Amino acid sequence: MSGKSKASEENSALSTLDLGTMEFMKWLVSKDANSGDTLIVVKDYFDNKYVILFDKSILKNIIVGYRDGMPWCMTCNTDDCGHVGFAICLKQDYDRNDQVVF
Ligand SMILES: [Zn+2]
Repeated sequence: MSGKSKASEENSALSTLDLGTMEFMKWLVSKDANSGDTLIVVKDYFDNKYVILFDKSILKNIIVGYRDGMPWCMTCNTDDCGHVGFAICLKQDYDRNDQVVF
């Protein structure tokens, strides 16, 4: 299998882009329902610069920066973790609505 060789001591529950996308869907719903039952909390969003998330599965702040419009997770140091997937969706949502409500 194609496991990554680098072992991380703190594994976020959001290890893949897809998991981040699914978490974003949950986040969208829970934000309207005000349930707060999500792994990710959006703390700050600066369009085309960076987004600050809080990952409850590792209890850490996550910074995803946009480099030339492409998100890069500075915390995981990768472009294919769930935080990046979440950030991509967040940006799409922002571009659609011209604002982010959180
Ligand atoms: Zn990440």
